[in-house]
Amino acid sequence: MLPKLIIHGGAGDNPDDKGGIAETRASLYQIIDAVYGKLTAGMDAIGAVTYACQLLEDEPRFNAGTGSVLQSDGQIRMSASLMNGETQCFSGVINVSRVQHPIDLAKYLQTSPDRVLSDLGAQELTRELNLPIYNPLTDQRLEEWLEERKTNFRRKMATVTRGTIGAVALDQDGKLAVGTSTGGRGFERIGRVSDSATPAGNYATELAAVSCTGVGEDILDEGLAVRIVTRVTDGMTLQEAFSKSFAEARARKRDFGAIGIDRSGAIAWDKTCAVIFAAYHNGIERGDTLG
Ligand code: ASP
Repeated sequence: MLPKLIIHGGAGDNPDDKGGIAETRASLYQIIDAVYGKLTAGMDAIGAVTYACQLLEDEPRFNAGTGSVLQSDGQIRMSASLMNGETQCFSGVINVSRVQHPIDLAKYLQTSPDRVLSDLGAQELTRELNLPIYNPLTDQRLEEWLEERKTNFRRKMATVTRGTIGAVALDQDGKLAVGTSTGGRGFERIGRVSDSATPAGNYATELAAVSCTGVGEDILDEGLAVRIVTRVTDGMTLQEAFSKSFAEARARKRDFGAIGIDRSGAIAWDKTCAVIFAAYHNGIERGDTLG
């Protein structure tokens, strides 16, 4: 079957907040082209979403890996997770520092008996795997942090920088997988846990796979990714599951977005905010959600 792919670089209220629509589109399309090429050459879904997350983590305009936002104490702590829809296996790391690709740790943990590690454990794993020490800090994120510090981090979220990343793929064999990676909400308390390494923010079965972005607390409150995937399992189409879940979210004034693919190859996305920065390949052509 024709592979399908959708990736996102966050959601937000200002379509320009990743440095301009044209630049964001170009960067998303470049990654779509690289990953879709691998999918058509036979890469499996879990390999493809891992590769997509690595490329998105390397893009400094997005809040994951290089370019992650700083927490209230001025440190970067990143979270990432993967879920293989075929094996229904979730793995992830929470609040890990000084690594280039947090998604690689999640990938390693797919075959480990302990599949979600937090700060200390994730750091030990980084050492055990001999991953080079890497500082993901960029000048822009540091300047934004210094600016927010003037008002004592009163904002709910780092609005300028919002941009967790995620990828959902359906491979040639009809297998689904999803990956999500984040620097967090920005300016949060030490120890805050993001939705991105929980099934609320990243979830897949053999029927559907969904990655979320936005205010993590809202995503957790809705159990968003699991909610959408379960609705598909219970018989809704992917589009129906998105529409119902987002109607409920709007009524509760939630602030987030999500992308997904189902086993038939349908691609869907939605958001309660102005824009979700996503691009896809539907087997025939590329498209995006940037308007
Ligand atoms: N969901 C992420 C978090 O709350 C942030 C984001 O999506 O930009 O940690």
